[in-house]
Amino acid sequence: MQKLVPLLLDWFAANARDLPWRRTRDPYAIWVSEIMLQQTQVKTVIPYWNRWMRELPTIKSTANASADKIHKLWEGLGYYTRVRNLQKTAQAIVAKHGGRFPGNFDDVLALPGIGRYTAGAICSIAFNQPTPILDGNVIRVLTRIFGIAKNPKEKKTNEFLWQIAKELVGRAKSAKEAKKQDTSRPSRSSLEINPCSHFNQSLMELGALVCTPRNPQCRICPVRIFCVAFRENRIEQLPNLRKRETAASRQFVAFIVENNGRFLVRQRPAGVVNAHLWEFPNTEIHGGKSEPKLAAKDIFGIAPIRIEPLATVKHSITRYRITLEAFRVKIGGTSSTSSHSKQSKSGTRGACPSEAVGVWKSPAQMQRLAFTAAHKKLASFAVNRILSGR
Ligand code: SF4
Repeated sequence: MQKLVPLLLDWFAANARDLPWRRTRDPYAIWVSEIMLQQTQVKTVIPYWNRWMRELPTIKSTANASADKIHKLWEGLGYYTRVRNLQKTAQAIVAKHGGRFPGNFDDVLALPGIGRYTAGAICSIAFNQPTPILDGNVIRVLTRIFGIAKNPKEKKTNEFLWQIAKELVGRAKSAKEAKKQDTSRPSRSSLEINPCSHFNQSLMELGALVCTPRNPQCRICPVRIFCVAFRENRIEQLPNLRKRETAASRQFVAFIVENNGRFLVRQRPAGVVNAHLWEFPNTEIHGGKSEPKLAAKDIFGIAPIRIEPLATVKHSITRYRITLEAFRVKIGGTSSTSSHSKQSKSGTRGACPSEAVGVWKSPAQMQRLAFTAAHKKLASFAVNRILSGR
């Protein structure tokens, strides 16, 4: 264990990716990156993080931002509970700590929505404290290096892994050795000042770049000589996680209603999946073939005058494979040439039957709203197809 730490620190100094959140020690910026990186790849997060920090550069600005703004900034990243919790936590920091990110692990852990991993990551990366981290990448690296065959999700084994992570970062605190110097990478002096920060990041980085779930690059791995899984040819078996459930298919039908260049859309209510995001009227079809006309009647309260297939959008989220069949429908009182639309200029509800379902929005207004991923694809397709074909 003693020898692992300098090897990993040296490797990180020479190989760390130049990521925008690695150029700062602002705990707020690091916290935002950690929340975005949950279940999301680095290359996807970079533009979102840059935009977020530009638009909401402080804890106070996040605490005070409108729900529309935070959802729009998060649009496409998915798992939207994350952004709502991020704002709640920012509000708690303003209320309890005057808008200043607490620098003590227990205070960070006490914040709503921040768990042991995130608190450890913020305290080590921003404040160079010897606080351990354990996420999927780190679990993979540690179970392989130490040859831990038990399921790492089981309580006892998980706690054992936390203890190893703690021991390692504790040793890093006193590490002084960093042989390589490269000014474009974390420098030797920086490593000496921030060994806990860099050690934890080295575990994450090794898991992301070298000790990957499939086909790990053992040939170039800095800790290969100490790796039990490599030595005993057990890499494929570790970590010992249960196989993922196979993805379940779900089918939805969505209805595109257009009237004088505006589209009928609705906002998902609080307390449901993708709360606060926008979508076209839609419903899930359970079992068997969809009957879109009946589904449209259920949603709009009257049978559509006309219904025609428009597009099929496929989308994956967590363990679901979603197929969204979209239909262009004409409901009584709406048509692309109708001159008696009841909508107001602001796009509020009117008296047309379909208007009980949602609100009318122009393409420009829709651009400013946060849509679920599948409906965003659908919106751009529908706007192009319907309005260009008029
Ligand atoms: Fe992972 Fe291979 Fe390195 Fe072991 S030697 S830590 S399995 S990359």
